[in-house]
Amino acid sequence: MEEKSKAELLREELAYAPTHAMKQIESGEVQAADDFCVGYMRFLDACRTEREAVAFMKDAAQAKGFVPFERGKKYACGDKVYFVNRGKAIILTVFGQKSVREGVRIAAAHIDSPRLDLKPNPLYEDEETALFKTHYYGGIKKYQWTAIPLSLHGAVYLKDGTCVNVSVGEKEGEPKFVVTDLLPHLAREQEKRTLEDGIKGEELNVLVGSRPFCADKGSELVKLNILKILFDKYGMTEKDFLSAELEIVPAMPVCDIGFDRSMIGGYGHDDRVCAYPSAMAAFDVENPQYTCVTVLTDKEETGSDGNTGLNSSYMQYFLYDLAETAGCAGYEVLRNSKCLSADVNAAFDPTFPSVQEKRNAAFINRGVVITKYTGARGKSGTSDASAEYMSFVRRILDDAKVVWQTGELGAVDAGGGGTVAKYIAKLDVDVVDVGVPVLSMHAPFEVVSKLDVYMTYRAVRAFYEA
Ligand code: MN
Ligand code: MN
Repeated sequence: MEEKSKAELLREELAYAPTHAMKQIESGEVQAADDFCVGYMRFLDACRTEREAVAFMKDAAQAKGFVPFERGKKYACGDKVYFVNRGKAIILTVFGQKSVREGVRIAAAHIDSPRLDLKPNPLYEDEETALFKTHYYGGIKKYQWTAIPLSLHGAVYLKDGTCVNVSVGEKEGEPKFVVTDLLPHLAREQEKRTLEDGIKGEELNVLVGSRPFCADKGSELVKLNILKILFDKYGMTEKDFLSAELEIVPAMPVCDIGFDRSMIGGYGHDDRVCAYPSAMAAFDVENPQYTCVTVLTDKEETGSDGNTGLNSSYMQYFLYDLAETAGCAGYEVLRNSKCLSADVNAAFDPTFPSVQEKRNAAFINRGVVITKYTGARGKSGTSDASAEYMSFVRRILDDAKVVWQTGELGAVDAGGGGTVAKYIAKLDVDVVDVGVPVLSMHAPFEVVSKLDVYMTYRAVRAFYEA
């Protein structure tokens, strides 16, 4: 090997130069990352909605010895409990050596993803085709949701209150659905619209059928035929759509991307790509110093409002329950707690460089991203993590040899966004965003790097074990 020059040595000592994770880790760790992602890809394929993610994680937690949380019960170090909030959020807790009075370690990720929700009265017939009206959920580029295979997931509560789970379009042999788009030959007017309006919200109508019930007299026989199929299969009638949460999501299987298989393509990386590593860290941590609380929450994509989102009090009340049993005030627990808000960030896309500021952008394969602040227009609406807390997190990651990078959510005034971090900060908890950089974020098919997924797991685990 050639000897390093004085300048090179000094630069190594003084300068910060984020690099590809492969330049920083052993080959054994690359294998470990690939192996870890096999489990992640299985999870992502199996869970297209928040309800499905909760059911998956509840089963996985039970298999790892977690039991339902009982209020008032005294728990000892190493005890593992789970708490499900309305089937759409779950808290996994591993009790630590110290009293919760000294604070807990929280990792919070969200399991809802952008999609098309069915309207309360969705089914209609137009020119002998049956369609569903939808209202999109979260921030989407609407034109991306046309002319791709879609599936239907969710829960329907029937007249008598029984719940029927629905999943159509994932398993082999099942039909799928689609939002149609205009052919280019006849799209001259449409193509004059802005990209934002290329497909309008009320044009996101999902094609679900085209054959009449029979050659009988009467109108809307195609719709009637769909109603009959739904009744035969689920026992539901049209009114039951009112007491349902049905979600249209992309029906594309998760797969490796690239000749080198270094990346993963799939729907819903944001934010199941942080939820899965956080849950795995909870499953793998043993007898931690501090009680570890992993929150997989709903409703982040619509601003965290609603009682399954983190702008509600469910996590706070859970921690208050822990405080009560430990004989201290809830706010004491919160004040001493530390949190990683595990959420994705935008990866630098070489095709669209202008929206990022390169020196402060996140890149795929450079490890877990620490995002000090999000927000928009002058850091508005963000929890800007303190220097003290950044120092704390950075040392934990460095000590555990986790490959990490920093990243802003885009260049100044290019746009912006937020996470659950500000709702956790509101509770007087120290918090910073960490997570996986994503290409094509919020598209029906997003891309992440396997090394970054693994480094996010290593980061949360190191945080729990520190
Ligand atoms: Mn997110
Ligand atoms: Mn998002």
